[in-house]
Amino acid sequence: MAVPHKIMMIFGTRPGAIKMAPIITEMRSLPDQFDPIVVVTAQHRRLLDQVLNFFAIEPDFDLNTMQPRESLSERTSKMLHHLDNVINAAQPDMILVVGDASTTLAAGLAGFYHKIPIGHVEAGLRTYDKYAPFPEEANRQLTDVLSDLYFAPTTLSRDNLLAERHSASNIFVTGNTSIDALKYTVRSDYHHPTLDKIPANHRILLLTMQRRENLGTPMRRVFHAVRDIVETNSDVDLIYPVHPNPDVVAMANDLLGDRDRIHLVDPLDVLDFHNFAARSTLILTDSGGVQEEAPALDKPVLVLRNKTERPEGVTAGTVRLVGTFPEEIQRAAFELLNDNREYKKMAHAPNPFGDGNAAKRILQVIQDYFDNKEKQTE
Ligand code: UDP
Repeated sequence: MAVPHKIMMIFGTRPGAIKMAPIITEMRSLPDQFDPIVVVTAQHRRLLDQVLNFFAIEPDFDLNTMQPRESLSERTSKMLHHLDNVINAAQPDMILVVGDASTTLAAGLAGFYHKIPIGHVEAGLRTYDKYAPFPEEANRQLTDVLSDLYFAPTTLSRDNLLAERHSASNIFVTGNTSIDALKYTVRSDYHHPTLDKIPANHRILLLTMQRRENLGTPMRRVFHAVRDIVETNSDVDLIYPVHPNPDVVAMANDLLGDRDRIHLVDPLDVLDFHNFAARSTLILTDSGGVQEEAPALDKPVLVLRNKTERPEGVTAGTVRLVGTFPEEIQRAAFELLNDNREYKKMAHAPNPFGDGNAAKRILQVIQDYFDNKEKQTE
């Protein structure tokens, strides 16, 4: 019988874990084909652990080396060093990386130095502005230079990779595995004390905001804008899971704390966040992943950024880019809260980011890759 392929999955952040979890879960159901090795760098320790716990993933290697406020150079070089040892110890047949974190780049580089084939999950996203988002845009471009298999979530991300002269035969449009994750999390019988506190006839705005480039003044503007939206709509409640960055916590408490119908909560587990999103009327976010997930739940999204590496949502009409100035945010929010036709148009636009079967497609591609390789050596 053929020996299962040792696939090492390396990730370190919450979105990385959410996108890798459906692949790990799927792999576990195919033990004759795959031997998954899970490596976490724990770039976001607490947020990462919430996802690992929910999906019952116990890492084989937990590097846990991150320190608060370390520089990107320190972080990346430390990860590279540790990943070198992990790869030497486990000798994987393939490495899978995901997204655009510092972990993604470090893992890609470590795999490349060992001449191990690399598969990039969520390949081909681009703004083509190397400082926006920083350092993610450079992380993903550099990772794609080092990769062998490209799992592009959409045809647009495939086209970006083709334009960069990556070989068409190595690029696969799979959808995004974050949509797969919703199958495990969203439940019709879900309850939570914060949701139970909100009257049934109230509409929920869900806010997430934590991008580096939005810290400081842009965040202050957005907090003022959402406060005004809540104050002027007596049937609207705002829920904001506050990112643990101390500057964000301080500003959120200052501008949004102790106010009627504003609920500041700790970062939510993936189970909670997905179910909160499913109960919301409107989502305001600067997150990448939330832009993909919300349309799968039929929720309009206002994106608190001027640029997105996911323009598919804008084209499909599932998201609107509103930046961080109050006028635009308030105009869009008022329209969606008061114009049912506009709301429905956005809520029911088809989700361009996937159908929930990305992990299955990715595993099929990996299996085919090894089958072809075996044929070539016969
Ligand atoms: N998310 C979560 N709890 C929260 C907020 C977000 O589990 O309180 C999830 C969300 O569903 C999405 C991911 O975290 O899958 C997005 O993470 P983040 O905004 O940190 O990163 P980005 O997607 O911008 O890379």
